[in-house]
Amino acid sequence: MLFRQLLDRETSTYTYLVADPVKKEAILVDPVLEQVERDFQLLEELGLKLKFCLETHIHADHITGTGKLREMTGCLGVVPGNAHAACADRSIKDGEILELGNVRVRAIAIPGHTDSHNAYLVNGTHLLTGDGLLIRGCGRTDFQSGNAGAMYDSITQKLFTLPDETLVYPGHDYQGFTVSTIGEEKQWNTRLVGRNRDEFRELMANLNLPHPQKIMEAVPANQRCGDVAA
Ligand code: FE
Repeated sequence: MLFRQLLDRETSTYTYLVADPVKKEAILVDPVLEQVERDFQLLEELGLKLKFCLETHIHADHITGTGKLREMTGCLGVVPGNAHAACADRSIKDGEILELGNVRVRAIAIPGHTDSHNAYLVNGTHLLTGDGLLIRGCGRTDFQSGNAGAMYDSITQKLFTLPDETLVYPGHDYQGFTVSTIGEEKQWNTRLVGRNRDEFRELMANLNLPHPQKIMEAVPANQRCGDVAA
């Protein structure tokens, strides 16, 4: 499998390129509109055909590159089941598998940051966690149908039951981390370690984070797969 982590510096968003190097087919997870040219050029240089753009959730902090990439490549846009995005070509629910040559992507529904949010386990080893589990943190739960109790359950009952050596690749990092493991987060994620569900909910209710700068434009645009002009 070919696996690449790509960064949008402005929003600290990670996009992931996953491909079968033999069949030359690729998936982009959480592409960012401003980085479409970069991603497209990389696909060309690696000789890859983009088959799917896959979202972990409807984002509030950046606009997805899916719509533009779909125009450029004819790929399909895929969103989690019951995400409100009528523009998507397809949705993927908990337990469903997207297959591309020898790459198998399994959706794991992890509501919490939004009520429709998937993590994606790639070939059983690489876990793309979106804005669910972050490195030493987790996604916020204070808008967009977020729910701290659901986040706690998703992380502790679903993600933390995966093997300790599973690699954790988050949707964002604001401190310079790039990758962790389930075992490492079970031991060192201070949001969760030593807190029960109620204590976690209290912590999340008192973070007092500012709203993302782009939320007013990003959410509606992302419900249109990144079409800003509509
Ligand atoms: Fe988000």
